[in-house]
Amino acid sequence: MTRPRFQRILLKLSGEVLMGSGQFGIDPDTVARVAREIAAAREAGHELCVVVGGGNIFRGLAAAEVGFERATADYMGMLATVMNALAVQNALEQIGVDTRVQSAIPMASVCEPFIRRRAERHLEKGRVVIFAAGVGSPFFTTDSGAALRAAEMKCDAIFKGTSVDGVYDADPKKVPGAKRYDEIDFGTVLSRDLKIMDASAIALCRDNNIPIVVFNIREQGNLARVLAGEGTATIVRNGE
Ligand code: UDP
Repeated sequence: MTRPRFQRILLKLSGEVLMGSGQFGIDPDTVARVAREIAAAREAGHELCVVVGGGNIFRGLAAAEVGFERATADYMGMLATVMNALAVQNALEQIGVDTRVQSAIPMASVCEPFIRRRAERHLEKGRVVIFAAGVGSPFFTTDSGAALRAAEMKCDAIFKGTSVDGVYDADPKKVPGAKRYDEIDFGTVLSRDLKIMDASAIALCRDNNIPIVVFNIREQGNLARVLAGEGTATIVRNGE
C-alpha cells in the first residue's frame, strides 16, 4: 500500500490510550511515551495538532446511565479532557517540545481558549497545539472534536491512535482470522458500522475529504513509522 505524505496532521488520542495498562486515570510512563512519539513526528518535519479524549476519567453517557443529567455529565467529561491535555502538555514540555493547549470551553487561568488563527500561528512557530474540551458542547464526543478541528486547521489527515494496527472486518481480539483492511472508504465504514470513530465524525471527515489513518500507538516508534508511509495501518478515505 502506498500512503501519501501528510504534512499537517491531527493526532486523536482517546483517554484510554493514556491510562496504559491501568483501568482508570493517567499513567505517567504512558503519557511520557506518547509525548516521545509526538516529538519524533515533529522532528521529522510534521505539524501536529492533538485532540485528547477523556474516557479514562469520565464519560458522560456512562454517567447518564447511572442517573446523572446528560448535559451536566458531558460537561464533566469535557473537563476530564482538559486534565488529559495538560498531562500531555506537561510530558511534551519535559522533553523540550513547545506546546499550547486550547480549550473549547474558555478557562483563562489554565489554558488558551480555542482561537483558530492563533492555533495556526502556533503551528507556524513549530509548536504542538493540543485541543481540549471537544467541540465544547454536550451530546458530542472528542471524535467529533477531532474531525471539526482537523477541518478548521486544514489538516491533511487524522491519525487515530488505538490499541490495534488498523481497521478489521471483525474485532481481532475476539474473532480469530479477522481481516485487516489496508484501505477502506468512508461509505463502507458507515454502512458496516465499523467502530473507528462515531458516525458524525466519520461523516464530517467524508464531507471534508479528510483521510483517517488508524494505527497502533502502543507500539514504540509507530507514529513516525506510519507517517513515513511504513508500518501497518488502515487508511480510511473517499473512494475514487
Ligand atoms: N464530551 C462532550 N462534548 C464534546 C467532547 C466530549 O460532551 O465535544 C464529553 C462526553 O461526555 C464524553 C467525554 O467528554 O463522554 C469524554 O470524551 P470522549 O468520550 O470522546 O473521550 P475518549 O473516548 O476519546 O476517551
